[in-house]
Amino acid sequence: MGIVVQKFGGTSVANTERIRNVANIVTDAYKAGNDVVVVVSAQGDTTDDLIEKAKEIGAKTSKREMDVLLSTGEQISMSLLAMEIQGRGYPVISLTGWQAGIITNSSYGEARIKRIESERLMRELDRHNIVIVAGFQGINKYDDITTLGRGGSDTSAVALAAALKADVCQIYTDVDGVYSADPRKVKNARKLSVISYDEMLELATCGAQVLHNRSVEMAKKYNVKLQVLSSLTRAEGTEVRGGISVEKMLISGVTKDNDVARISIVGVDNEPGVAFKLFSLLAQKGVNVDIILQSVGRGSKKDISFTTTLSSLDTALEVINAHMSLFGAAEVISDTSVAKVSIVGAGMINNTGVAAKMFEALYDANINIQMISTSEIKISVLIDKNMADLAVSTIHSKFIQD
Ligand code: ADP
Ligand code: ASP
Ligand code: MG
Repeated sequence: MGIVVQKFGGTSVANTERIRNVANIVTDAYKAGNDVVVVVSAQGDTTDDLIEKAKEIGAKTSKREMDVLLSTGEQISMSLLAMEIQGRGYPVISLTGWQAGIITNSSYGEARIKRIESERLMRELDRHNIVIVAGFQGINKYDDITTLGRGGSDTSAVALAAALKADVCQIYTDVDGVYSADPRKVKNARKLSVISYDEMLELATCGAQVLHNRSVEMAKKYNVKLQVLSSLTRAEGTEVRGGISVEKMLISGVTKDNDVARISIVGVDNEPGVAFKLFSLLAQKGVNVDIILQSVGRGSKKDISFTTTLSSLDTALEVINAHMSLFGAAEVISDTSVAKVSIVGAGMINNTGVAAKMFEALYDANINIQMISTSEIKISVLIDKNMADLAVSTIHSKFIQD
């Protein structure tokens, strides 16, 4: 018995039947004597549908108004779930991000939680209410609604768990845990009983959407006990925790990220300061840069390539085109038909040949590698987007046998 935070994603609250199912899970935890805080996402594809509606309006929408719109999806779920639980005779209250004291910065559409003012939440728990909070949203210093970025309800849940010092944060979703690859795409993907925060963070950052990467970052920072579970089966899920994974696998997972664009600047000056000028200008415009590759100079010239997200591509190209002469550049080329495929595993720290094995799998499938980057527990390659699913399954079979 203690404080339990439970988060339910879009599929888990998609319709009335699913909401009733969620109410069963929530009331079971409450009946067991826990203080229960529930975080909900918008139903099914609601967030996508709202984005479409804004596009239909057609005007250049401000990010502030977009967040006002997107935050409504979660409010539908929270009130419907509260009504269902109320109907069963339990004390329950639903709260928006603002009412729950979720204070964020002002980066509309990708706001970061700065703090949680938890007095109201504590008061409701003291009254023995089941508290249902709208995920994905908060409020900034101007009292305006913000949203936390796609998939951000996970982060709402972990932030509340950290602020309330909850015993556990349970993320209920439509798969029964974290797998060695997306189980919807890779048939023999294996469920992991435990994964470390560090590995999960790399997987989430490299495209495994089962957890929002910032939720993992926050769970690690505040040592929140995190579980990934299915809302549909009551199977044992995956625990995300500190330390190294107990699974004796060379790698924990393979994942892909389609949200990548490659930019190459051809023929920049081969002299000190060019990379500094380029990447500081990009940073000033908020362009996030991932893999960077610089060629060996040919006399007075060299090439620099890097990857960024699709949404940052236009800004990045604007910045570069406006400063071509500053870098002495001849040409800038961009490519959006690329994807990043990554393997993640603490096992690679103490084992040689992991990269070679990954590259062999790609060679077996006749897939060309455009860029490579590595960290202590991750190797990523940039390849043709059309080959990404094949790459993931081929690499997966190379490392993880049935
Ligand atoms: P929710 O709506 O519950 O937040 P998401 O769609 O955001 O659910 O995340 C769950 C999905 O993540 C799964 O349906 C699965 O297809 C996908 N996924 C990608 N990689 C993995 C992985 N390694 N393990 C489990 N699920 C994964
Ligand atoms: N509803 C939001 C989204 O679709 C947040 C979430 O589901 O976590 O991205
Ligand atoms: Mg999600």
